[in-house]
Amino acid sequence: AHLLARIEHQDPQLNSFITVTADSALQQADAADQQRSNGNNAPLLGVPLAHKDLFCTAGVRTSCASKMLDNFIAPYSASVVTNLTQAGCISLGKLNMDEFAMGSSGETSFYGASKNPWDLTRVPGGSSSGSAVAVAARLVPAATGSDSGGSIRQPAAFTGLTGIKPTYGRISRWGMTAYASSFDQAGFLAHNAEDCAMLLQATAGFDERDSTSAQQPVDDYAAALTQPLQGLRIGLPKEYFDSRLDSRIGDVTQNAIAQLKQLGATFVDISLPTLPHAVPAYYVIASAEASTNLARFDGVRFGYRCKDPQNLEDMYARSRDEAFGDEVKRRIMMGTYALSTGYYDAYYLKAQKIRRLIKDDFVSAFKDVDLILGPTTPNLPWQLGSKVNDPVAAYLEDIYTVPANLAGIPGLSMPAGLVDGLPVGVQLLAPYFEEGRLLQVAHQFQ
Ligand code: GLN
Repeated sequence: AHLLARIEHQDPQLNSFITVTADSALQQADAADQQRSNGNNAPLLGVPLAHKDLFCTAGVRTSCASKMLDNFIAPYSASVVTNLTQAGCISLGKLNMDEFAMGSSGETSFYGASKNPWDLTRVPGGSSSGSAVAVAARLVPAATGSDSGGSIRQPAAFTGLTGIKPTYGRISRWGMTAYASSFDQAGFLAHNAEDCAMLLQATAGFDERDSTSAQQPVDDYAAALTQPLQGLRIGLPKEYFDSRLDSRIGDVTQNAIAQLKQLGATFVDISLPTLPHAVPAYYVIASAEASTNLARFDGVRFGYRCKDPQNLEDMYARSRDEAFGDEVKRRIMMGTYALSTGYYDAYYLKAQKIRRLIKDDFVSAFKDVDLILGPTTPNLPWQLGSKVNDPVAAYLEDIYTVPANLAGIPGLSMPAGLVDGLPVGVQLLAPYFEEGRLLQVAHQFQ
């Protein structure tokens, strides 16, 4: 009830929630209290959280922050949602985001941008914008997010939170609306690594309903938190400290390195030579996948349908024209172009080859180091509105986050300091399924 009052009072300014499910939250809280008094001491029992609005929630609107799904009530819940509910978590509602998770600022939402609680004139990052804002403003202690190109790590960095994107396939994608299926990965934003570890523990694992979910056994993440850092080798890729990095963020990163040295870690200079090609490769592949994934929104089965269609073609065209926002249309057009005959080899196939080289870069780097460290973002959170007419400038803000998605490796952003009163994040990357190492370092760094 306390958090619901905070949401009611503060969210009109912040715009982090799309839907608040107050009644069911209060009912679940009563039930959790009951279970506690009956001796149930599950760690997540009664813990409130909220879900990014691309996770299906049975009986509750799941909009993906799009006019297309403004009226869509999900008939079932995503595996992530079900697992967290079974662990005892209480959902307070659904969180704002960039439309269909396309964006890095939260500004492409049909419901309007969320605002950064550290400075209401700035973006909170995206696409998990509402997740970051709601947690940073202490409307909920933690939130789910998804990260296809940085959408958990970048907003976590911009709002002073810890955000984890697990290995591709570590958490089931079932019930998570697809944007770019070969990149999409669910994860969490919270105030610290320990909270992320508990949420990951409750959700990681194979799910027969998602053929890309991993069979790999799940580690004990709580046990990993306190393993000593002595002897840990951390790589510093020179491509993460290039001229595009704001030097003040560079300074915060250097301070973090110094602190981790004191905790016993050693640092090694490394190189990931294909990294400069990551952003173009990512945007070609992500747009190609988005163009096919979003073909299902045709006004027939669910979602928005235009008024008085003349014929089938008119219904498809007008429904999509009226209900998708500009960024979504841009991606569909780019993706369709990249996949079309004559351009497939030039763009899509080439991008896939770059993807493979980036993966190889990481795999060979991890032969020498246990982890990789660098800044999460090249710049501080920018002014709302300042990049909406310059998509390429916005895409380039993702240079340090998309490589992990191209390779499928896990990544985490942890708060590392302030510049001009704005939070700065430092990013850790680990080999496949070594989420424990990310959490271990983030836990002891704090
Ligand atoms: N900013 C990237 C994009 O717009 C990443 C989005 C994401 O991770 N969902 O595609």
